[in-house]
Amino acid sequence: MRAVGFEKFGGPEVLKTIEAPDPRPGPGEVVVRVLATSVNRLDLLVRSGTFGAAIPLPHVPGADVVGVVEEVGPGVVDVSRGDLVVSNTIYGCGSCRYCARGDEVLCPRHKVVGVSTWGSYGELVKLPARALVRPPKGLKIEDLAAMPLAYGTAWRALRTVGRVGPGSTVFIWAAAGGVGTFAVQLAKALGAFVIAQTRSEEKGRMLKALGADAVVYGHDVAQQVAALVEDGVDVVVDTTGAYLQTSINMARPGGLVVAMGYLVGPEARFDVRTLYRRGKAIVGVQTSNRWELAEALEFAARRGIRPIVQEVLPVEEAAKAHALLESGKVFGKIVLRHE
Ligand SMILES: [Zn+2]
Repeated sequence: MRAVGFEKFGGPEVLKTIEAPDPRPGPGEVVVRVLATSVNRLDLLVRSGTFGAAIPLPHVPGADVVGVVEEVGPGVVDVSRGDLVVSNTIYGCGSCRYCARGDEVLCPRHKVVGVSTWGSYGELVKLPARALVRPPKGLKIEDLAAMPLAYGTAWRALRTVGRVGPGSTVFIWAAAGGVGTFAVQLAKALGAFVIAQTRSEEKGRMLKALGADAVVYGHDVAQQVAALVEDGVDVVVDTTGAYLQTSINMARPGGLVVAMGYLVGPEARFDVRTLYRRGKAIVGVQTSNRWELAEALEFAARRGIRPIVQEVLPVEEAAKAHALLESGKVFGKIVLRHE
C-alpha cells in the first residue's frame, strides 16, 4: 500500500510517500480502505517526536478514519466487506473492567489510532472491529473524515463530562481550532450560553456565525468573562493547556475545567487553593469512547453540526497541511483525501 509517513521525527518536511506491505486482519480485526482523514494537533506531536510515548520508526500517522471495509478477519460478525465505517480514535483491550463497561478511554492498555498503530495517512488501516462505528446517513465523507477525534473529544467534554444542557454557560479556549469549532456548535445545540476565545476579529465573526454568544480577545480574558457571567462559567474547555490558572479562575464555584491538550508544553502551574476552596474540578479528556462517537454522529446528523473544513488536500500534501496547521491560520479542519 501507499502511505504518507516518516522515518525520522522532525518538521513537516519529514513526511514522505512510502510503500509498505498491505496489512492483513487477524482474529476480530478488519482492514479498512481509507477514503479520507483529517489533520489533528495530535499528528503534529507524533511527527515532531513530542507526543511523550515511544513510537517505533518508520511511522504512519492519522487518527481519523473513514473508509470501506476491505477485508474481515476470523470472528468478525458485526461488519462486512463493503461497509462504510468510521473508527473511534481509541480502542481498548476489550477485556478489562473499563472496557467491559464501554469506557475504553480509561483502559490501561488502550491504543490510539495513528499513534500506537499505523494510521489513516496510509490507504489501508488495520483495526479491531470493536473500534468501528457505522455512520448515520446525511454526513458526507469529508465531514466524517474531520469528526472522530475532534468532535468526539468535544462531545465527551461537553456532554458526558460537562453535562452541558439548557442554561449552562461554557467557555471555549482556542475556539477557532478543530475541537473548538465543534465545541462552539455543540454547546450551542445543547442549549448553553457560549463564550469563545480567539485571537483575530475575523475568526471572532466566524465563531459568532457558528453560534458563539460572545467572543473574547486579548489578555484580560478573565475580566471580560466576569463582565458577561456574574458567577463564573459552568464548564471551561481548555484545548491549549496554557491557561490553567485563568481557566480555574473563570469557573464558577463547583465548576469544571476540562483539560484536553497542550500547545506550549506539558506542564502547568496553578494555585491549588483556587481549586479546593471553591469546590472546582479539573478533568482530563483525551477523546471519546466508541458509544459516545456513535451518539455524537447521530446528534450531528440530526442537528446540523458539521465540521468547518477550511481545505481539502490529497494525502500526499500532508506536509503542506501540517505546516498550515502549525501556522495558526486554520479555522476548523484540514481534510486529506486518498485518491
Ligand atoms: Zn481494556
